[in-house]
Amino acid sequence: MAINIAIDGTAGSGKGTIAGMIAKKRGFSHLDTGAIYRTVALFMMRNKVDVSNEKEVLKNLKKIKFEIVFDEKTKKQVNLLNGIDLGDKIRTEEVSRGASVVSQYLKVREFATKMQRKIAKNNDVIIEGRDIGTVVLPKAKYKFFITADPEVRARRRVLQLHLPESEFEKVLADIIARDKRDMEREHSPLKQAEDAIFIDNSNDTVEQTVKRICSKIKN
Ligand code: C5P
Repeated sequence: MAINIAIDGTAGSGKGTIAGMIAKKRGFSHLDTGAIYRTVALFMMRNKVDVSNEKEVLKNLKKIKFEIVFDEKTKKQVNLLNGIDLGDKIRTEEVSRGASVVSQYLKVREFATKMQRKIAKNNDVIIEGRDIGTVVLPKAKYKFFITADPEVRARRRVLQLHLPESEFEKVLADIIARDKRDMEREHSPLKQAEDAIFIDNSNDTVEQTVKRICSKIKN
């Protein structure tokens, strides 16, 4: 049976980088589930669909031809929309905001959950997201929930995206708004699974968090 490790947490908690490093160390694939919501948002934006209009989003959801594959060598996730690798096009702040809006819709979540479960069934995978331990894979062998202070997370995002210092307040406001939307939404809100290990990494480096998690995962 495939081994699944669920890592949930807040935006900017570093869970993507951390999951990637653990995957490499332990020979797992790394599934970034936020990429699915980001792709849905990008698709809507490209097709001039207002992401806040649920009816229109759901109508257009059927048109998406989206596939996730893992590069054989690097094991890295490749997000293919109509067969074309999206690369960093899903990483803009505009797409981040759009993703957090479309992820509120039940049908969008079902679309994403189905893809995730299929991948998890066939692969030893570290799955990183918001609702993996609670909804997508409640029986995952290992579960972690990572977060950090909003200011720390905003600072990380500014550095990661090479944004000017003047953008800090805006990035912070965005992170707080996304946390709120993610935690308060009706379907699959962001929350720690009861059996997940909680990690606040405000004062830790990425390497320290990786070490903490790896110490809990048996070979
Ligand atoms: O993790 P990332 O920041 O890329 O996720 C983008 C957005 O997608 C999040 O703000 C969240 O609203 C949504 N998301 C989700 N469930 C997941 C992963 C991401 O609702 N499992």
